[in-house]
Amino acid sequence: MQVFWHRRDLRCHDNRGLALASGLTGDADGPALPLFVFDDAVLAHGSPPRVRFMLDALASLRESYRERGSDLVVRRGDPREVVPRVATEFGADRVVWNRDYSGLARERDADVRLALDDAGVDRESVHDHLHHEPGSITTNAGDTYSVYTYFGKKWHDREKEEPYPTPEDEHLADADGDPLPSIAALGFDDPVGEVPEAGHDAARARLEAFCDGPIERYEEAREYPARDDTSRLSADLKWGTLGVREAYAATAEAMARADDDAAESVEEFQSQLAWREFYAHVLADEPRVVTENYKSYENPIEWRDDDEALQAWKDGETGYPVVDAGMRQLRREAFMHNRVRMIVASFLTKDLLLDWREGYDHFRAMLVDHDTANDNGGWQWAASTGTDAQPYFRIFNPMTQGERYDPDGEYVREYVPELRGVDAETIHSWHELSDAERTAAAPDYPGPIVDHAERREAALAMFERARGEAD
Ligand SMILES: Cc1cc2nc3c(=O)[nH]c(=O)nc-3n(C[C@H](O)[C@H](O)[C@H](O)COP(=O)(O)OP(=O)(O)OC[C@H]3O[C@@H](n4cnc5c(N)ncnc54)[C@H](O)[C@@H]3O)c2cc1C
Repeated sequence: MQVFWHRRDLRCHDNRGLALASGLTGDADGPALPLFVFDDAVLAHGSPPRVRFMLDALASLRESYRERGSDLVVRRGDPREVVPRVATEFGADRVVWNRDYSGLARERDADVRLALDDAGVDRESVHDHLHHEPGSITTNAGDTYSVYTYFGKKWHDREKEEPYPTPEDEHLADADGDPLPSIAALGFDDPVGEVPEAGHDAARARLEAFCDGPIERYEEAREYPARDDTSRLSADLKWGTLGVREAYAATAEAMARADDDAAESVEEFQSQLAWREFYAHVLADEPRVVTENYKSYENPIEWRDDDEALQAWKDGETGYPVVDAGMRQLRREAFMHNRVRMIVASFLTKDLLLDWREGYDHFRAMLVDHDTANDNGGWQWAASTGTDAQPYFRIFNPMTQGERYDPDGEYVREYVPELRGVDAETIHSWHELSDAERTAAAPDYPGPIVDHAERREAALAMFERARGEAD
């Protein structure tokens, strides 16, 4: 028997490590005994929406095992002690897991390997969580790419594996499973916002619904938050309730039936999957970027301290309608549309002149799909400190962004109820109205907390000082 240790791969289907442990691939026999360990060091970085999603995903995973005559063994503690103990308790020949590339996970896994060696239990880790493992797509000199374009080309050109098969009853060990803890027992409150349904069935339903239509218009539609036409698969890819090969295979089928325009859209979607792998490569190569700028400037960037402005941004009370709509979508749904993530991140760093790490910490606490590599990549892009970063002098104007990507003001009205009775023109010219006009249009909605034109100049000066170019 082989223990399969689930971590960020909460599914039975298209799970490379599980297929190996259950004897479906490789040269060893199963059956597999599935294990999940609540690790306090990982929970320390958790937040209510993500812990809720994880618990729901685990409940769904346990159900999948029960339907196959097996069950999920659940433990809490330090995996360095728990994993060898479970392997010994069940007399397992080997422990198998899928690799995780974050700095913390790599340290822990190295220790678990040593602990298993000490316990005399064989172990194997495999690559599952991305199509192309960090370090496998490099420049010709063997370095990690610092810009996406060439990485993306190579990513698209490389062959993708087919999904791995699902183990059935005969491949899985009989086991008495364990109850899952409540969210409170793990030390978290219930999330404030809605959390999407978790588990492989829900993920597959989202994938099918997306590949059945929206993927064909994705290239254009993805920019408009009110259309809500993106896949919403980010939490599934983060927690592994969906395998990357299964996701890609569905896009390949959509590609096979697409006309020219639709084919471009499908490819654009596949490129987003490639961006995810690009940022995973960057983080694996340079774990320091979690807290440090990727790109160095001559001098430190002099971010401001302004708790009041930070709080107004978090509360969606900045008086910039599209920014506030985004921040309130985050609170309500533990999610925010990508275009709006870019707008609110630019606003925090270039209008409020606050450190991107403040924004990253808030997103980490609030997003159900928070993923260190993607979140960090997105923030550093917006702050002009990252790979491929927005040049420091290209500063989003939050009003024209709102006008371009939410022309009818639908997204704003959905999330900012104070503006529900207000027409789009008034919404998009909010910063230009007099106090009296604003009070007449929407008495409960604030005026802009900063002047964008002034702050734009201040941001340029701040970056020029950082570049050593100021007088
Ligand atoms: C400031 C900022 C923070 C972000 N934080 C996160 C985060 O914590 N977790 C996260 O998964 N994404 C993050 N993103 C990227 C992107 O906003 C989300 O992946 C996307 O909005 C999720 O919605 P979707 O699944 O409908 O995306 P779709 O447009 O349907 O894209 C499909 C998948 O591709 C991947 N993807 C899409 N865009 C990007 C991107 N720009 N970078 C990397 N991967 C991408 C995601 O896995 C996504 O689920 C962030 C972007 C910014 C600008």
